[in-house]
Amino acid sequence: MRILVVEDDVNLNRQLVEALQEAGYVVDKAFDGEEGHFLGETEPYDAVILDIGLPELDGITVLEKWRAAGRVMPVLLLTARDRWSDKVAGIDAGADDYVAKPFHLEEVLARIRALIRRAAGHASSEITCGPVRLDTKSSKASVDGKALKLTSHEYRLLSYLMHHMGEVVSRTELVEHLYDQDFDRDSNTIEVFVGRLRKKIGIDMIETVRGLGYRIQAPQEAK
Ligand code: CA
Repeated sequence: MRILVVEDDVNLNRQLVEALQEAGYVVDKAFDGEEGHFLGETEPYDAVILDIGLPELDGITVLEKWRAAGRVMPVLLLTARDRWSDKVAGIDAGADDYVAKPFHLEEVLARIRALIRRAAGHASSEITCGPVRLDTKSSKASVDGKALKLTSHEYRLLSYLMHHMGEVVSRTELVEHLYDQDFDRDSNTIEVFVGRLRKKIGIDMIETVRGLGYRIQAPQEAK
Protein backbone atom coordinates (compact mmCIF):
# COMPACT_ATOMS: atom_id res chain seq x y z
CA MET A 1 0.00 0.00 0.00
CA ARG A 2 1.34 3.36 -1.03
CA ILE A 3 0.44 6.61 0.71
CA LEU A 4 1.05 10.27 -0.13
CA VAL A 5 1.57 12.77 2.70
CA VAL A 6 1.09 16.47 1.81
CA GLU A 7 1.99 18.60 4.83
CA ASP A 8 4.15 21.73 4.93
CA ASP A 9 5.03 21.45 8.62
CA VAL A 10 8.37 19.63 8.29
CA ASN A 11 8.19 18.02 11.72
CA LEU A 12 4.63 16.83 11.34
CA ASN A 13 5.36 15.57 7.83
CA ARG A 14 8.28 13.52 9.18
CA GLN A 15 6.23 12.14 12.08
CA LEU A 16 3.45 11.05 9.74
CA VAL A 17 5.88 9.48 7.26
CA GLU A 18 7.71 7.59 10.01
CA ALA A 19 4.52 6.31 11.62
CA LEU A 20 3.16 5.15 8.27
CA GLN A 21 6.42 3.44 7.33
CA GLU A 22 6.50 1.78 10.72
CA ALA A 23 2.98 0.48 10.00
CA GLY A 24 4.22 -1.11 6.77
CA TYR A 25 3.21 1.44 4.11
CA VAL A 26 5.42 2.91 1.43
CA VAL A 27 5.20 6.68 1.61
CA ASP A 28 5.83 9.61 -0.73
CA LYS A 29 5.86 13.10 0.69
CA ALA A 30 5.24 16.65 -0.48
CA PHE A 31 5.62 19.95 1.37
CA ASP A 32 3.44 22.27 -0.71
CA GLY A 33 0.18 22.12 -2.62
CA GLU A 34 1.66 22.21 -6.09
CA GLU A 35 4.07 19.34 -5.54
CA GLY A 36 1.35 17.38 -3.75
CA HIS A 37 -1.14 18.01 -6.50
CA PHE A 38 1.33 16.85 -9.14
CA LEU A 39 2.14 13.60 -7.31
CA GLY A 40 -1.52 12.82 -6.62
CA GLU A 41 -2.39 13.40 -10.25
CA THR A 42 0.42 11.30 -11.72
CA GLU A 43 1.09 8.50 -9.21
CA PRO A 44 -1.34 5.85 -8.00
CA TYR A 45 -1.89 6.06 -4.23
CA ASP A 46 -3.99 3.84 -2.00
CA ALA A 47 -4.68 6.83 0.25
CA VAL A 48 -3.60 10.46 0.69
CA ILE A 49 -3.14 12.55 3.83
CA LEU A 50 -3.69 16.17 2.81
CA ASP A 51 -3.23 19.26 4.95
CA ILE A 52 -5.61 22.14 4.20
CA GLY A 53 -3.27 25.04 4.95
CA LEU A 54 -0.49 24.64 2.36
CA PRO A 55 1.78 27.05 0.46
CA GLU A 56 1.39 27.44 -3.33
CA LEU A 57 -2.01 25.74 -3.49
CA ASP A 58 -4.32 25.10 -0.52
CA GLY A 59 -5.50 21.59 0.26
CA ILE A 60 -9.15 22.17 -0.70
CA THR A 61 -8.10 23.41 -4.16
CA VAL A 62 -5.73 20.46 -4.57
CA LEU A 63 -8.54 18.07 -3.71
CA GLU A 64 -11.03 19.78 -6.04
CA LYS A 65 -8.55 19.54 -8.90
CA TRP A 66 -7.94 15.83 -8.27
CA ARG A 67 -11.64 15.03 -8.15
CA ALA A 68 -12.32 17.13 -11.26
CA ALA A 69 -9.62 15.10 -13.02
CA GLY A 70 -11.27 11.85 -11.95
CA ARG A 71 -8.78 10.87 -9.25
CA VAL A 72 -10.76 8.75 -6.79
CA MET A 73 -8.20 7.68 -4.16
CA PRO A 74 -9.32 8.03 -0.52
CA VAL A 75 -8.26 11.38 0.97
CA LEU A 76 -7.91 12.14 4.69
CA LEU A 77 -7.83 15.90 5.35
CA LEU A 78 -5.87 17.50 8.17
CA THR A 79 -7.88 20.48 9.42
CA ALA A 80 -7.26 23.19 11.97
CA ARG A 81 -9.13 22.73 15.22
CA ASP A 82 -12.44 24.58 15.47
CA ARG A 83 -12.54 25.44 11.79
CA TRP A 84 -15.84 23.69 11.09
CA SER A 85 -16.15 25.55 7.79
CA ASP A 86 -12.93 23.85 6.61
CA LYS A 87 -14.42 20.45 7.38
CA VAL A 88 -17.58 21.22 5.44
CA ALA A 89 -15.62 22.63 2.49
CA GLY A 90 -13.31 19.61 2.57
CA ILE A 91 -16.08 17.05 2.53
CA ASP A 92 -17.88 18.95 -0.22
CA ALA A 93 -14.62 19.01 -2.21
CA GLY A 94 -14.47 15.20 -2.06
CA ALA A 95 -12.62 14.32 1.14
CA ASP A 96 -13.42 10.90 2.62
CA ASP A 97 -12.53 11.76 6.19
CA TYR A 98 -10.73 14.37 8.26
CA VAL A 99 -8.70 14.66 11.46
CA ALA A 100 -8.44 17.92 13.38
CA LYS A 101 -5.03 19.13 14.58
CA PRO A 102 -3.54 18.39 17.01
CA PHE A 103 -4.13 14.66 16.63
CA HIS A 104 -2.71 11.40 17.87
CA LEU A 105 -0.80 9.52 15.18
CA GLU A 106 -2.71 6.37 16.17
CA GLU A 107 -5.95 8.03 15.14
CA VAL A 108 -4.56 8.97 11.74
CA LEU A 109 -3.30 5.40 11.24
CA ALA A 110 -6.68 3.93 12.20
CA ARG A 111 -8.52 6.26 9.83
CA ILE A 112 -6.11 5.46 6.98
CA ARG A 113 -6.57 1.72 7.56
CA ALA A 114 -10.33 2.16 7.46
CA LEU A 115 -10.23 4.25 4.26
CA ILE A 116 -8.05 1.71 2.46
CA ARG A 117 -10.21 -1.17 3.67
CA ARG A 118 -13.45 0.46 2.62
CA ALA A 119 -12.05 1.45 -0.77
CA ALA A 120 -11.33 -2.27 -1.28
CA GLY A 121 -14.80 -3.25 0.00
CA HIS A 122 -13.78 -4.71 3.39
CA ALA A 123 -15.61 -3.67 6.54
CA SER A 124 -13.43 -5.38 9.14
CA SER A 125 -9.79 -4.77 10.04
CA GLU A 126 -9.09 -8.47 9.53
CA ILE A 127 -9.19 -9.88 6.03
CA THR A 128 -9.42 -13.63 5.59
CA CYS A 129 -8.69 -15.65 2.49
CA GLY A 130 -8.98 -19.40 3.12
CA PRO A 131 -6.32 -20.27 5.72
CA VAL A 132 -4.61 -16.88 5.38
CA ARG A 133 -5.56 -14.11 7.76
CA LEU A 134 -4.33 -10.52 7.49
CA ASP A 135 -4.60 -8.26 10.53
CA THR A 136 -4.35 -4.73 9.13
CA LYS A 137 -4.31 -3.30 12.65
CA SER A 138 -1.12 -5.00 13.77
CA SER A 139 0.33 -5.44 10.24
CA LYS A 140 0.64 -9.17 10.86
CA ALA A 141 -0.50 -12.25 9.00
CA SER A 142 -1.09 -15.89 9.84
CA VAL A 143 -1.79 -19.18 8.08
CA ASP A 144 -4.05 -21.69 9.84
CA GLY A 145 -3.67 -19.59 13.00
CA LYS A 146 0.11 -19.79 12.88
CA ALA A 147 1.87 -16.42 12.80
CA LEU A 148 3.85 -15.74 9.65
CA LYS A 149 7.31 -14.19 9.66
CA LEU A 150 7.18 -11.75 6.77
CA THR A 151 9.60 -9.06 5.68
CA SER A 152 8.03 -5.61 5.32
CA HIS A 153 8.08 -6.05 1.56
CA GLU A 154 6.39 -9.45 1.72
CA TYR A 155 3.75 -8.01 4.06
CA ARG A 156 3.02 -5.17 1.65
CA LEU A 157 2.69 -7.62 -1.24
CA LEU A 158 0.36 -9.91 0.73
CA SER A 159 -1.64 -6.95 2.02
CA TYR A 160 -2.16 -5.52 -1.46
CA LEU A 161 -3.24 -8.89 -2.89
CA MET A 162 -5.55 -9.56 0.09
CA HIS A 163 -7.21 -6.15 -0.24
CA HIS A 164 -7.84 -7.05 -3.89
CA MET A 165 -8.78 -10.66 -3.22
CA GLY A 166 -10.26 -12.47 -6.22
CA GLU A 167 -9.02 -9.80 -8.64
CA VAL A 168 -6.15 -10.19 -11.07
CA VAL A 169 -3.45 -7.70 -10.09
CA SER A 170 -0.87 -6.88 -12.75
CA ARG A 171 2.88 -6.70 -12.12
CA THR A 172 2.85 -3.01 -13.05
CA GLU A 173 0.13 -2.32 -10.48
CA LEU A 174 2.13 -4.15 -7.82
CA VAL A 175 5.29 -2.23 -8.65
CA GLU A 176 3.36 1.05 -8.45
CA HIS A 177 1.81 0.25 -5.08
CA LEU A 178 4.74 -1.46 -3.35
CA TYR A 179 7.53 1.02 -4.03
CA ASP A 180 7.84 4.74 -3.40
CA GLN A 181 8.71 7.17 -6.18
CA ASP A 182 12.45 7.11 -5.46
CA PHE A 183 12.82 3.35 -5.63
CA ASP A 184 14.67 1.84 -8.58
CA ARG A 185 11.77 -0.23 -9.88
CA ASP A 186 12.30 -3.53 -11.57
CA SER A 187 9.17 -5.58 -12.10
CA ASN A 188 11.22 -8.80 -12.18
CA THR A 189 11.74 -8.50 -8.44
CA ILE A 190 7.96 -8.87 -8.01
CA GLU A 191 8.24 -12.46 -9.23
CA VAL A 192 10.96 -13.13 -6.69
CA PHE A 193 8.79 -11.77 -3.86
CA VAL A 194 5.73 -13.67 -5.05
CA GLY A 195 7.87 -16.83 -5.01
CA ARG A 196 9.01 -16.18 -1.44
CA LEU A 197 5.49 -15.39 -0.29
CA ARG A 198 4.14 -18.58 -1.89
CA LYS A 199 6.66 -20.61 0.11
CA LYS A 200 5.33 -19.04 3.31
CA ILE A 201 1.57 -19.05 2.75
CA GLY A 202 1.20 -22.09 0.48
CA ILE A 203 2.09 -22.53 -3.18
CA ASP A 204 -1.56 -22.71 -4.31
CA MET A 205 -2.74 -19.51 -2.66
CA ILE A 206 -1.38 -17.14 -5.29
CA GLU A 207 -2.32 -17.98 -8.84
CA THR A 208 -0.31 -16.70 -11.80
CA VAL A 209 -2.66 -15.51 -14.52
CA ARG A 210 -0.54 -15.77 -17.61
CA GLY A 211 0.16 -12.45 -19.27
CA LEU A 212 -2.01 -10.57 -16.77
CA GLY A 213 -0.61 -10.90 -13.27
CA TYR A 214 -1.45 -12.55 -9.96
CA ARG A 215 -4.58 -13.40 -8.02
CA ILE A 216 -5.09 -14.53 -4.45
CA GLN A 217 -8.26 -16.42 -3.59
CA ALA A 218 -9.46 -19.01 -1.11
CA PRO A 219 -8.84 -22.58 -2.36
CA GLN A 220 -12.55 -23.56 -2.35
CA GLU A 221 -13.34 -20.57 -4.52
CA ALA A 222 -10.73 -21.49 -7.11
CA LYS A 223 -11.94 -22.90 -10.41
CA1 CA B 1 -0.12 23.61 7.07
